[in-house]
Amino acid sequence: MSEDIFIHADRALVMIFNQMSREFQNLSTQLGFDELNVLETRNTVNAMYQRMNEMIVRRYEEVAQNAFQDAVIAVPRGEVQKQEFDSSAFVALILRGYNPVSDFVYTREYTRKRDRLFESIIATERGNQEMRRNLKRALDVLANQVRQYVDNITIEARIEGFRRNGVEYVRWVAEDDRKTCSICRERNGRIFPIDDLPDIPAHWHCRCHLEPATIEGFERQEVV
Ligand SMILES: [Zn+2]
Repeated sequence: MSEDIFIHADRALVMIFNQMSREFQNLSTQLGFDELNVLETRNTVNAMYQRMNEMIVRRYEEVAQNAFQDAVIAVPRGEVQKQEFDSSAFVALILRGYNPVSDFVYTREYTRKRDRLFESIIATERGNQEMRRNLKRALDVLANQVRQYVDNITIEARIEGFRRNGVEYVRWVAEDDRKTCSICRERNGRIFPIDDLPDIPAHWHCRCHLEPATIEGFERQEVV
């Protein structure tokens, strides 16, 4: 079930990671050959992160559109379609807001990772092992952040799709495998008012999602 919800996220990730790998490969080549001074290195790294950011945000917006539309389809008589959903403003808001699960503001963290890479490059001798490790590490930590945020955006856009189509209650659907943590397992199947939801994703790499539910279901559950 949950694979369907995150299918757009997974497709986007493949394309994002391909592009990111190419950018890091190019940077590695450039650092191997060119004698860059500090200012040039700064400009090169900044430009690279700028290009990646534009590409990644475009993918986030597509993921948001698709997740919103999936939500509309999941709502009986859902009417507010994705054409009425401003995914660009929506994604920008998510990226600029504090996220309690990641415990950072996306845009600030992105800049921090960029600066950290720059500092590690100028502190390291050209063309040695350590430089390659620095680049590998920078790619990995950025990939981790992006992986989490395609999921966050998927879930947020889905909730938005529900909300805009009049859904007031949602059922928590935990990813059904042995890795499911006790928090998520305990929430599995529970119905929450959409305006009084626990944080979802509940933790890094949580792939729980939500389905529309009814007030009747909610009230029945409260009685038990
Ligand atoms: Zn979970």
